[in-house]
Amino acid sequence: MDHYDFLQREHFNQLESKQARDKREADTEIDALAERFERLNLYVLALGELLAELGVDKSAIEKKIEEIDLRDGKRDGKYREVSTCKQCNRKTRLNRPYCMYCGSAF
Ligand SMILES: [Zn+2]
Repeated sequence: MDHYDFLQREHFNQLESKQARDKREADTEIDALAERFERLNLYVLALGELLAELGVDKSAIEKKIEEIDLRDGKRDGKYREVSTCKQCNRKTRLNRPYCMYCGSAF
């Protein structure tokens, strides 16, 4: 094996171990998401059963879901916390350090 082959093999081995690390990290993240999903599923089931016991029907729940979905101004089946900017009075997602419209800090 000449020097070039050695370097190429070394480079290949490094790529392979990086791939293995990336896969382990992705698997861990998937496991955490699956666990979170199961926990949320349990909460939703418990809340649904409690609401049914209290006489709240499905259409009232769906109406509330739509109301919450629209709080960020978009009907997309997702919920994101929003805040109203004190400078420009527009709604912006809370995960931003600055208002996306006027740039003022939160
Ligand atoms: Zn603003």
